[in-house]
Amino acid sequence: MIGGAQLTIDLEALAANYRLIRDTVAPAQAAGVVKANGYGLGASEVVRTLAGQGCRHIFVAVLGEAEELAQLLEPELRESLELYVLNGLLPGSEETCARLGVIPVLNSLDQIQGWTEQAAAMGRRLPAVLQVDTGMSRMGLPEDELARLLAEPALLEGINLRLLISHLACADEADDPANAMQWSRFQGIARRFPDLPLALDNSGGAFLRRSHGDLVRAGIALYGGAPQAGANPMRPVIALEAAIAQVRSIPAGAGVGYGLTFRAQRPTKIATVPVGYADGLPRSLGNRGAGWIAGMRAPIVGRVSMDSITLDVTDVP
Ligand SMILES: *Cc1c(COP(=O)(O)O)cnc(C)c1O
Repeated sequence: MIGGAQLTIDLEALAANYRLIRDTVAPAQAAGVVKANGYGLGASEVVRTLAGQGCRHIFVAVLGEAEELAQLLEPELRESLELYVLNGLLPGSEETCARLGVIPVLNSLDQIQGWTEQAAAMGRRLPAVLQVDTGMSRMGLPEDELARLLAEPALLEGINLRLLISHLACADEADDPANAMQWSRFQGIARRFPDLPLALDNSGGAFLRRSHGDLVRAGIALYGGAPQAGANPMRPVIALEAAIAQVRSIPAGAGVGYGLTFRAQRPTKIATVPVGYADGLPRSLGNRGAGWIAGMRAPIVGRVSMDSITLDVTDVP
């Protein structure tokens, strides 16, 4: 506690969240998404924990993340995992991807071509995931490119497709009609690739009441984030704790913090806590977020400062 605050990452809670998702989506398998350094928690620690629960499929967003992860993991552990890159291949990255044994998600005919050329150059077949767009308009083959691919299967020469994926736009709202629409489009496309395992769902999708195909790509829920609107079934994984630095009593009408954006409506007790946006606490929590003291909610009043916040603790005994 040399600094003002301490962040705790509960790997046992992470493991429990993995088990909940795994059991919810069975008989589909659960993959772990660890892009952006394991959603900020440390990708290699996260992967070790997930692997300890039997997770064998790991997704990152960009090749650099896979490269770093491969260096951090014990070689034996690395060998036991499939590492996938969601954003696929940037031109010129094919050789590195192949050398690292990383499986790219191919999102366009250009990426497919880059990978077939790499396979030809190496004189062997290379594994890949094929992503199709089913309505989010972000990543994956659009309809016209998919039609061309289906008409010309030779475009996949030298590529060993392992998985067909797409991504849901509204999975965090269980009743959104986009979920059923994307699921039905995905199944329609899947019929054209009869032997390929399927993976459509993210965290939200894992909790939709329907089949989950063969593999689910879970991210935010592993880390304790709510997969869908409503009650959150996941265990919190991170806790940020700090000691109270100072407590003061202010009269009605007194202002608090930069800009005096909070004005006390009553005689108020303010606790100053030494954690702020320099520690990653979003400034948007000013006058909106809260801290908890012995389980009691204490609203953040005033702005979030660089290294402190002010809590209204009037009602905390
Ligand atoms: C980020 C991402 C995921 C994981 O999504 P969560 O909502 O965090 O579970 C899955 N698939 C793709 C393609 C992603 O980009």
